Amino acid sequence: MAYEALYTRGRPKTLSQLIGQEHISNALARAISSNRLSHAYLLVGTRGTGKTSTARLLAKAMNCDKVHDAQLSGHPLEKKEIPCNKCESCKMFDSSPDNVEFDAASNRSVEDVTRLLSTAYLAPLRARVKTFIIDEVHMLSFEAVNSILKLIEEPPPNVAFFLATTELNKVPMTIRSRCQVLNFRLIPQAIIAPYLSTLARRLNVGLQEEAAKKIARLAEGSMRDALTYLDQCYAMADNEITLDNVNDTLGLISDENLDDIISAVKAKDRAAAAQAVTRAFSSGLSANLIAESLITRLRDIEFDMIDNDEKNFAELDNFIDALRKAVSEMYGSGIPDIILEMTLMKLAAPVQNFIMPTPTAQIVAKPNENLDAGRKIFYDTLNSLSENDAGIKTFANKAVVTKFEGDTLTLAFKSASTADMFKRSQAEFKELAAQSAKRPIKLSVVIDSSLPPPVLNKMTEPARSNLVNAMEFFRANDVMEIND
Ligand SMILES: [Zn+2]
Repeated sequence: MAYEALYTRGRPKTLSQLIGQEHISNALARAISSNRLSHAYLLVGTRGTGKTSTARLLAKAMNCDKVHDAQLSGHPLEKKEIPCNKCESCKMFDSSPDNVEFDAASNRSVEDVTRLLSTAYLAPLRARVKTFIIDEVHMLSFEAVNSILKLIEEPPPNVAFFLATTELNKVPMTIRSRCQVLNFRLIPQAIIAPYLSTLARRLNVGLQEEAAKKIARLAEGSMRDALTYLDQCYAMADNEITLDNVNDTLGLISDENLDDIISAVKAKDRAAAAQAVTRAFSSGLSANLIAESLITRLRDIEFDMIDNDEKNFAELDNFIDALRKAVSEMYGSGIPDIILEMTLMKLAAPVQNFIMPTPTAQIVAKPNENLDAGRKIFYDTLNSLSENDAGIKTFANKAVVTKFEGDTLTLAFKSASTADMFKRSQAEFKELAAQSAKRPIKLSVVIDSSLPPPVLNKMTEPARSNLVNAMEFFRANDVMEIND
């Protein structure tokens, strides 16, 4: 026996099997029980949400003997009884000449539509009600819409119309206002996944829970897409459909691989991030797909965090924003792989902070109490210099206190000439320094061309170390990028 697609086998047989559209199936069941059905319905919703299936169920129910009997006797029907699928009429429905189905996308012209609708004025051959199911009704030409409109405005007896569309805004208001509108919702993942599992059990197909969830996520609210994916995976799997089957069959990146990339970025491990993305590329996945899968995965993680009442989203938001930017840059760039790699490398870069740069051994200035005492003596002395000592003050101002050991204060100068000029009047400075320190002070004058600017003299730890480190950092890392 030829393989029958799950999409066909999974189609609802009664209103109770219409998944994820309970607001519609409940309303229709009430309308059928009380015999208040309209002769024209406009079924609106995204592809694969059950519009055509519902139209067929309604068309079938309008002709079902059991439904008809129940309506006559005033007996309310349950959703699982609509239609009965057992009476002659139900059995004949699929091959009934009284049910006309066509797709407006491929029958757009007024001639096509006139031909298809021509039988509307003739009495049904066998059925009670002649039914017309027209898909993608927004694709019809203006003239074709008018011929349908005429039929809906002045309907022949025993005719019903089911117009389905994915784009309500393209359906003329004249049609919309004359139909009963049924709005189909996107079907939530939480409904699709268990339904896939139930269906698989019914068909004796093994389906891992994770695999069902993944398919449900990919289907994005469309049951038809979900069933098509399940079909494809089923064709490739052995006995049981696993998450790997789903990823392989549908050409997806595995959650494990995604998580490797995400945790490498979080751990600021560039090597691991590079390795994980290379692994994804090597299984033939496009940069675009990887980036979009990462975004979806991160969004799922964020939703989990909301559920767990965690509050720190900044890092995730930053990650998602960077990926979204990368995706938009990828289009037409010709180097999507490189854009993704660079984005991940940037995200995985160690955090460089201006206030506390990464310290390296030789540039860390240890807090030095002696040095601070030396600086205090130096600045007290500078301040005690009077107006008459303007010359010596000018040169002393250029000195940097580099050491204070015992009673020797070491003053370093960047230039030899300034040091010479200072030395000429250092006796006076020494005397004043002794007064400030309240003990004898010796001066040692040295020349050091690599000196930091004298401004550092005035700073105390740790501000001084931080500034020295920052200066060293920029000198050493002028090629390195700083995280923004
Ligand atoms: Zn029936």
